[in-house]
Amino acid sequence: MKAANALMAGLGTTVFEVMSALAREHQSVNLGQGFPDDIGPEPVRTAAANFLLEGHNQYPPMMGLPELRQAVAEHAKRFCGLDVDWQTEVLVTSGATEALADCLFGLIEPGDEVVLIEPLYDSYLPIVRRAGGVPRLVRLEPPFWSLSREKLAQAFSPRTKLILFNTPMNPCSKVFDAGELQFIADLCLRHDAYAVCDEVYEHIIFDQRRHLSIMALPGMRERAVRIGSAGKSFSLTGWKVGYVTAAAELMKPIAKTHQFMTFTTPPNLQWGAAVGLRLGDEYFTSLAADMQRKRDRLAGALQEIGFEVLPAHGTYFVTTDFRPLGFNGTDEDFCRHITIEAGVTAVPVSAFFDEPAAAPRHLVRFCFCKHDSTLDTAVERLVKHFGGKP
Ligand code: PMP
Ligand code: GLN
Repeated sequence: MKAANALMAGLGTTVFEVMSALAREHQSVNLGQGFPDDIGPEPVRTAAANFLLEGHNQYPPMMGLPELRQAVAEHAKRFCGLDVDWQTEVLVTSGATEALADCLFGLIEPGDEVVLIEPLYDSYLPIVRRAGGVPRLVRLEPPFWSLSREKLAQAFSPRTKLILFNTPMNPCSKVFDAGELQFIADLCLRHDAYAVCDEVYEHIIFDQRRHLSIMALPGMRERAVRIGSAGKSFSLTGWKVGYVTAAAELMKPIAKTHQFMTFTTPPNLQWGAAVGLRLGDEYFTSLAADMQRKRDRLAGALQEIGFEVLPAHGTYFVTTDFRPLGFNGTDEDFCRHITIEAGVTAVPVSAFFDEPAAAPRHLVRFCFCKHDSTLDTAVERLVKHFGGKP
């Protein structure tokens, strides 16, 4: 038999699936894969359920239900001050994962260079490479994950087609500030490159920070792509409803990709997401406040146990250094160890690097978007295992 595509066939199983399976096997508290315990806002779930029961179950328009595209445009105006034409500049996708693939397949020509920032979300590199892109990786260094402007500038060249980055950033919970975004924008303008910005955690941002979209910076409206996810904004990660915003010309090849990737997304979930994006400001404020409180609950407890807790400015996650606990082994060993021996699961941060073996091996990511009781059970188990203050 002829060989399959070598790149795809050669991939391992994603770390989220591996760790969730191990958590199930050992009945451990799963603080690995990022999904909330919360069941999501009632009006959003009711809207989706009713829409389905009322019989709206055939193919919706290829670009997405008008109601959702209008809601995405209104939301961009409300939170980022962007004027968006819902008819030509918004595309609904089956999750941000599809949105990312549509952008990469739609924009990259084989041989184009793509600038990426490590640590990075696990779907980025395989899709960039499958699209023929040549990754140019820039690494952020723990514990502060600060961006080296010099290294970033060196990664750009006349062959750069685009930069793909994520803010707030999974797994390291960094939020790019205005100065960093301006620096990235200047590089894009100087090198005639696009910026594809994964903003799925736009509403999960802490300590009075405000989410800034690179698309709102001068000169970037025509060359930035903004990606959001209803899964993250409404605590409904299984829904897989994403949305892309881009200038009409830039949207065309992205939408062409979408039409042959999935073509559409379930109509009732789109309807529910539209209701969600139109919720009042208090919904979004309390989502962030609630997550911040959970961050503090888990981060404080992990620190008491003896972990070094790294700063977490957004997302569902807090990253920790386990070396102060005296564990000798890699981050993968540690995650396996605590799953089996303590009954708590985390994910190794090295999985978010192109070459895990050459990545930092002392950091693990814990997810805190859980009920307080889940977090408390995890903490009790870790205290029992490692000692430390209850
Ligand atoms: N980007 C990042 C940074 C994520 O954490 C996630 C969530 N898994 C995604 C994209 C994918 O989002 P979705 O579930 O909407 O496909
Ligand atoms: N985004 C989630 C995380 O980082 C997982 C998504 C997935 O399982 N593909 O944990």
